[in-house]
Amino acid sequence: METEKMETKKINLGIHKIIIDLILPLYKENSMYSSGSITSNLKRVCECGDPSCEFNCEQALEAASDRNFEQQQLNNEVLAKNRRYNHVIDTLTDLILAHAIEGIDVESLAYLKGIEVAEQAISGKF
Ligand SMILES: [Zn+2]
Repeated sequence: METEKMETKKINLGIHKIIIDLILPLYKENSMYSSGSITSNLKRVCECGDPSCEFNCEQALEAASDRNFEQQQLNNEVLAKNRRYNHVIDTLTDLILAHAIEGIDVESLAYLKGIEVAEQAISGKF
């Protein structure tokens, strides 16, 4: 059985292990690429090791628990910041993917610098 070959393009940005996989559309319409996916090591990983964990697993809550009320509050804030940081990083990588799909040169030095500046700004907030 012959399978239809889809044309794909892999872009390794060379920073933060950002890898974009683009799938060329069969019929070109508005976009150069119809879809794709993006991975990176930008997100903070919960100590349970599951990259999809939202810092609300038993292990994270157990590690954060403290009999001292003020310390408990601080630990909860760290967990909340990690969750918010990861959500904003998801938004950033979704935007990078959307730009790549639309044909913006995401490998240009100016664009890569923009990613670094955005990542630092996000880190500073959370
Ligand atoms: Zn976890």
